[in-house]
Amino acid sequence: MTRVVRPVVRSFGAQFAREAAAWALGGGHSVYWESKTRARLFVPKPDGSQTDLGLWAILDLGRSRYQVLSGGAFDGLASVVVPRSSHWIVKRRAERDSVIAGPTRKLSLDCGTCGSCCRSNEVVLERADLERLRERPELIRRPFARRRADGKIVLVLLRSNDCKHLGNDNRCGIYELRPNACRSFPIGSECCLYAREDEMGLYDGLPPEGSVL
Ligand code: SF4
Ligand code: SF4
Repeated sequence: MTRVVRPVVRSFGAQFAREAAAWALGGGHSVYWESKTRARLFVPKPDGSQTDLGLWAILDLGRSRYQVLSGGAFDGLASVVVPRSSHWIVKRRAERDSVIAGPTRKLSLDCGTCGSCCRSNEVVLERADLERLRERPELIRRPFARRRADGKIVLVLLRSNDCKHLGNDNRCGIYELRPNACRSFPIGSECCLYAREDEMGLYDGLPPEGSVL
């Protein structure tokens, strides 16, 4: 079981800039609607680690760069304009978290009983992965991997959409050799919560009442 403190997402109208800034300064993620059609996401400045949840919340919107603001209400916070095609994503995050009071939330997640991020998730093998897998060359060919139309090599998913290496016990069959994308997948991130919601119907990572997950 891993305990994480995750940011809570809140939506703010244009007249609530100060409140939106205070929320993000408190560790939460603020969706700030500058107008009905333009939203910015504000998160605490990423700490430079690969597991920073703010950074992943940005990446999950299809953005790889962010701006750290200097001066004004949002001083010191990182921000991106939310692409219009991702408005539904930030609305969904805010709706999910609307029942949570503060800007951060502690929760416990058990990857051993989950495995959701190993399902319906096409893992691209990077150069470093291919190097690592040189000791098991069969793993970069069918039936374990295939070349996509864009030339990238990806791990094969079964008809069930499970990664071919995912065991019935939700353990990775190539754990020591697993690709970088799997190593860096951040527990408690928006991608993690979304995978759990999509695969197991668990909102906010919470198990249904009476469940032992
Ligand atoms: S979705 Fe999250 S909790 Fe589930 S296995 Fe992946 S990182 Fe762990
Ligand atoms: S290689 Fe292992 S960790 Fe990565 S998606 Fe497959 S089962 Fe999951």
